[in-house]
Amino acid sequence: MTEAERRAALDAIAQEVAVCTRCRLHQTRTRAVPGEGHPETEVVLVGEGPGFNEDRQGRPFVGQAGAKLDALLTSVGWRRDEVFITNVVKCRPPENRDPEPDEIAACAPFLTRQLEVLDPALVVTLGRFSMARFSPGARIGQVHGTYRQADPASGAPEALAYAMYHPAAALHQGSLNEALFRDMLGVPAALVAARETRATAAARPDAGSAQVAEAVDGTEAAPLEQLAAEPATAVAPAVAEPATELASDAETRPAAQLPLF
Ligand code: URA
Repeated sequence: MTEAERRAALDAIAQEVAVCTRCRLHQTRTRAVPGEGHPETEVVLVGEGPGFNEDRQGRPFVGQAGAKLDALLTSVGWRRDEVFITNVVKCRPPENRDPEPDEIAACAPFLTRQLEVLDPALVVTLGRFSMARFSPGARIGQVHGTYRQADPASGAPEALAYAMYHPAAALHQGSLNEALFRDMLGVPAALVAARETRATAAARPDAGSAQVAEAVDGTEAAPLEQLAAEPATAVAPAVAEPATELASDAETRPAAQLPLF
């Protein structure tokens, strides 16, 4: 698919989302929030559902949790227009309550179709509702900061899924904030692993990437510092020189750069 075709397909899904009445959440929404980002990206971040500000603006992660997500992306040198950001449910649950199972099920085909169009190498799950879709049965306290093969039923059978806490959780708990930023540093390494998994699968037409990825399934992502310490060519040609000076504040600390484009 060309970039223009991908963009058109994503726009078509967004137009359906905007007028969707498949579940009760449409009754209380101001605007549906389909998601946004680069149609050619390798990285899709999936949150839970829109909050107050997202419902008003029709855009994902634009409130306080969004500021946290922007800071997380900045910490690895990425911008939000280089990734794709969306949610498990596209309309705000009233009072920001948890989405109900039937609401998640009603909305699921939209995320599946978005993933089919985007065909990401890596899905970063933000919070337990998103994690449950890509890594059913996993417990976030155990798997945050690690990746595994995405569940084929998620719509991204060729992707690795990297689990993170929800950025909003870090607004209230300092320890989760530290974990979030630490886990974020493992995301570029997970992308390197995802690229390798796909490249290996592509070179072996008899084996799908799901089989190839069994080798990495459940493997903890290498800390980025470790990745950056390796000779760049041996690990991933795209890994540039690591930043040499690290500021004390994890939120502004530059990390080794792994360009997305
Ligand atoms: N929380 C989410 O899960 N998604 C958003 O878009 C905003 C806040």
